[in-house]
Amino acid sequence: MQTVSDLAGILQVAIPSPLPQTFDYLPPVGDAVDHLVPGMRVRVPFGRSQKIGVVVALASASAVDPARLKPISAILDDDAIVPSEIQSLAQWASRYYHYSLGEVLAATLPTLLRQGDEAKVSGEKVWSLNAAGMAVDPERLKRAPRQLALLQLLQQRGKPLNAGALDVQFGNWRGIMRNLVDKGWIELAEQTTLIVPVAETSCAPELNSAQQAACDAIHNALGGFESLLLDGVTGSGKTEVYFSAVEQVLRAGQQALILVPEIGLTPQLLKRFQARFAVPIALLHSGLNDKARMNSWLQAKAGAAPIIIGTRSAVFTPMKNLGIILIDEEHDLSFKQQEGFRYHARDVAIRRAQQAGIPIVLGSATPSLESLHNARQGRFQHLLLPERAGNAAPPRIRLLDVCQQKLTEGFSLMMLQAIQQHLDKGQQVLLFLNRRGYAPTLICHDCGWLANCQRCDAHMILHKARHLLRCHHCDSQRRIDSQCPDCGSVDLRPLGQGTERAAEALVELFPNNEIIRIDRDSTRRKGELQAVLKQVEGGKGQILLGTQMLAKGHHLPNVTLVGILDADQGLFGLDFRSSERMGQLIIQVAGRAGRGESRGEVLIQTHHPQHPLLNGIITHDYGRFASDLLAERSQAMLPPFRYIAVLRAEASSREMPNEFLSAARDMGFQRPNTQGAHCPAELLGPIPAAMEKRAGRYRAQLLIQADNRAQLHNFLRHWLPQLSQLPQAKKVRWSIDVDAMELS
Ligand code: ADP
Ligand code: ZN
Ligand code: ZN
Repeated sequence: MQTVSDLAGILQVAIPSPLPQTFDYLPPVGDAVDHLVPGMRVRVPFGRSQKIGVVVALASASAVDPARLKPISAILDDDAIVPSEIQSLAQWASRYYHYSLGEVLAATLPTLLRQGDEAKVSGEKVWSLNAAGMAVDPERLKRAPRQLALLQLLQQRGKPLNAGALDVQFGNWRGIMRNLVDKGWIELAEQTTLIVPVAETSCAPELNSAQQAACDAIHNALGGFESLLLDGVTGSGKTEVYFSAVEQVLRAGQQALILVPEIGLTPQLLKRFQARFAVPIALLHSGLNDKARMNSWLQAKAGAAPIIIGTRSAVFTPMKNLGIILIDEEHDLSFKQQEGFRYHARDVAIRRAQQAGIPIVLGSATPSLESLHNARQGRFQHLLLPERAGNAAPPRIRLLDVCQQKLTEGFSLMMLQAIQQHLDKGQQVLLFLNRRGYAPTLICHDCGWLANCQRCDAHMILHKARHLLRCHHCDSQRRIDSQCPDCGSVDLRPLGQGTERAAEALVELFPNNEIIRIDRDSTRRKGELQAVLKQVEGGKGQILLGTQMLAKGHHLPNVTLVGILDADQGLFGLDFRSSERMGQLIIQVAGRAGRGESRGEVLIQTHHPQHPLLNGIITHDYGRFASDLLAERSQAMLPPFRYIAVLRAEASSREMPNEFLSAARDMGFQRPNTQGAHCPAELLGPIPAAMEKRAGRYRAQLLIQADNRAQLHNFLRHWLPQLSQLPQAKKVRWSIDVDAMELS
């Protein structure tokens, strides 16, 4: 390994800043430097402040005048905190997404390490009963009812509790706890946050032949790089295939990295992993506090956690001995970061698997067109699970034409009858409406005024229970107007229907049934969704009503009817991906029906029963639906047949983004490429964003397209560095989004 002492001693440091280059520093004054290696964090003077960067290389000379180089202020690690494989992954991502290496490296670190904390696994305080505490006679605490209550809480829970749990379950507990500790009944300990295995482990069902074939293919792929697309209808038992793959990897003494869209939304998957594997599982997601995240990260790095389950950014977690990467619901948009470092975790993961020489499995019932295309081109191995596992049959899907039908608060008579029938049989009904709040907006019945957001080109959403109008784009809110600001009328009415309103209607329509609303408003607090899902587990005669949160892979065996209240919302989207999204969403929601013993039914209300898109979806073959979409994309020369990037700009005036983007486009047209020919990339625009004004800023974009990746990147590499020199660049905030997933 190179160390500074072998060389003249220049450290190249990547620092989180918009500037793309690394910065040269001298070793710290008077410090022994022969242990310095790339991957260590250092604190450095930067401008007028101090920043934390990562050493990326040691060099013998610098382009900067040595007299102007400054020494670094401190070395923060004893060893490379960013191991070499993550360094090279970050280098690749920085080049591919055209984003500063310092920012990319910072994004690979948990917050506390980014802020300069010591890289050390630290415990969290937990309180637990000891033997004496368990045996306390309640009589002894007759005159101290709070102490008794706290003691009994710990007795009931039967496990150590941390401060967070005590805050929720008891409140104001610290003084009382101290009394109990003083009495010698309670012990205070430190616990690291690795998930402790649960005792009751479930055993594997016998795999069906499709599952077995998929498992065999994955087992054969172990030990080398290969991408496998696990394309299995909802309920086909993809999770069992994951289990089998993980089992093999653990047996070989290696680690498995599992990426999921959002752990908070899929608590069941985690529970199933815990039940199957009696090994520590490290979690990495935004619901954890910073300390817990750092612990998980360090334990993954040290190899102490054989299984790591995490969301998007977990793709950068260092692992001592990684054997496989699994991505569940690979089509999910949350794998793409939509701001700052705009990477796609699936694509980074594929690159990582390739670098590490291990297989990667992408699982979904509705694979992205990109992945399907790759499978059809033979770049991915295509594993199909065409049928539901066990005894469950596929649901029956029907369109309900609501044209000219009387709707009661958005429900057609046919829908209401079907709901009643399923409830009468003691089954559960799931209703899907992808709009939270009471109504999409407020309208003046006298003059037609609409409650719009002043900072966005959007309506304010009516939240009746909270007496608010709220913009879902910029979060601004105000009290519900009592009078029309235009004509003074007091006849202001909700327009359209959100989940809050539908729930209110259902309470009236089905007074004897429990109505459970599941959306971001009703599950805001931590643990609330888990609590609701628990209430639903094994429940009877309930109506679950919710947004796309309900589409996320939940296993709800008693749901036999799924009703989609408004399929028209997604039919006419502006983005070229809206049809794909819409199809995925409907199929995922429909997939919640009939996963248990009884056959499921899916009813879709629409004003456009002839729409080819809807008919494509209900033929119930995602593969064919996707083929049609792929044919359209191919004709329209859109991804995955071409490669795109979007240059976005925003400013406080409408003209400035447009001027910047026009200048950028002109510069792109002029620039001859290395062969002397004109640029091989096509530039389209600028055009205003679909929502031009958001949070008080005007937005526009320029689309860059090319026939292959190399052309696109070649162009961007030469073009982007020049953009900051444009005089217009100083007046806007601009960014580049490679492989943009949304063109809005
Ligand atoms: P997916 O993730 O593909 O939607 P799951 O893995 O959740 O499907 O499986 C759906 C249900 O089928 C689960 O209850 C699971 O336990 C069950 N299951 C999976 N494989 C089998 C099998 N081979 N035999 C019987 N039941 C199975
Ligand atoms: Zn009015
Ligand atoms: Zn707004």
